Amino acid sequence: AGDDSTGSQRDDGSSIGHGFDLSAELAARERRNLLRRLSPANRVAERAQFAPAPGSALPVVDGEERLVLGANNYLGLTQDERVQDAAVAATEVVGTGAGASRLVTGDTLVHHDLETRLAEATGTDRALTFASGYAANVGTITALEPDVVFSDSNNHASTIDACRLSGAETIVYDHCDTADLASRMSDREQADDESWLVVTDSVFSVDGDVAPLEELCILAEQYGAWVMVDEAHAIGLYEDAGGIVQREGLSDRVDIQMGTLSKALASQGGYVAGAEELIEYLINHARSFAFSTGLCPPAAAAAAESLHIARTDDCRNRLWRNVEYLREELDGMGYHVPGETQIIPVRVDDRTAALELSEELYERGVVAPVIRPPSVPEGTTRIRVAPMATHSASDLATCLDAFRDAGREIGLL
Ligand code: PMP
Repeated sequence: AGDDSTGSQRDDGSSIGHGFDLSAELAARERRNLLRRLSPANRVAERAQFAPAPGSALPVVDGEERLVLGANNYLGLTQDERVQDAAVAATEVVGTGAGASRLVTGDTLVHHDLETRLAEATGTDRALTFASGYAANVGTITALEPDVVFSDSNNHASTIDACRLSGAETIVYDHCDTADLASRMSDREQADDESWLVVTDSVFSVDGDVAPLEELCILAEQYGAWVMVDEAHAIGLYEDAGGIVQREGLSDRVDIQMGTLSKALASQGGYVAGAEELIEYLINHARSFAFSTGLCPPAAAAAAESLHIARTDDCRNRLWRNVEYLREELDGMGYHVPGETQIIPVRVDDRTAALELSEELYERGVVAPVIRPPSVPEGTTRIRVAPMATHSASDLATCLDAFRDAGREIGLL
């Protein structure tokens, strides 16, 4: 599952015992169909990061044009000329790198412009960018040093690692289950001066399901807890290019909004948005901010331009039309495709069948990743289909034909 792994579990069947017997661990993974590889199994695109290259219909993978589904470049903006021009202009004016931490000499107007736009999109006082979403999560939670964190069981690996590093008592509640969270909060006695944090992804990266944010806010408010929401898979896609927090009208009730620039915003880097005081605090205490070089200017400029495009152009509508169409058609064919967002998990729980389906799709020119344990619970597997705003009607037809034919070929349909 690569970057979408929750990374929360170790592969239980392949304990490495004492010492560093790495080859035994790798062999055990391979026997269980759990070994991940970079090229060629991951089908590295030689041209065009999973979006149609200019002048060509589709990206080239393994020497052939193929339809790639499952990337996080949801709006297809990595190939948008306006975004590319913004990155080039920032490179020419400011340079390819920030050259130092923002706190030393790496602070530029490009960073401030992006942060102003992120604050607007998130309905907050201010935003702060980090080198990655991972660094934003780790830097923020460790800086806050919460006494207790209540964390959704399916939260992203970067949140899990952040909780561990912060030294907080971390109480994991059942996925999106507010009744379970309520009982865990009421069971944990709260000392007067204790700081509590409830943290959740808004859109979960593997299944694309959505956290019950308003109910989480209501619960948190009862205990004076703060709420932190990871909008990595939502920022740019909802109201005025905000995330689920904006769709639900919760900008004033979520204390910390966090996200990445690497998905819909077609760039690299992460951010945190919230009250002025929070951002001032992070500038002074978040180690992954202070002790890491500022975001590279072309990445900052590309993200700022993507955010502007997401707000003002039709690309969000195009994405949602594609999503609705694919969901309806796959469901009509007999596939199980739960959820409502741009991440469409095609559930094929038999791991061997899922791998076979992915291979058959590949034979038909469609690249769609299999997500298997430990990224998802043991006994479950899905093909993660994520269409983009830039996919054409004929791309969607190719995808659907492939799913129909491949599914019949291996007896799934
Ligand atoms: N949070 C979530 C929910 C993610 O899916 C990801 C990336 N897969 C991150 C955080 C980390 O973001 P980045 O890739 O910018 O480090």
